[in-house]
Amino acid sequence: MGALPKRKISKTRRDKRRTHHNISVPTLIRCDNCGDMKLPHVMCPSCRQYRGRQILPAFEEK
Ligand SMILES: [Zn+2]
Repeated sequence: MGALPKRKISKTRRDKRRTHHNISVPTLIRCDNCGDMKLPHVMCPSCRQYRGRQILPAFEEK
């Protein structure tokens, strides 16, 4: 026989490992302002606006 694990992996440890198996891709929507993909309910990382308001200064203004 070849190499084998020394100990059985407990049900808890096995199931903890599998918690990562069903992690879904986050939902993305298009930004109303620039059209890039962004997370819903979050400021757009491209144009830095949310619901028509500038949250942080745009990159060009620096
Ligand atoms: Zn945007």
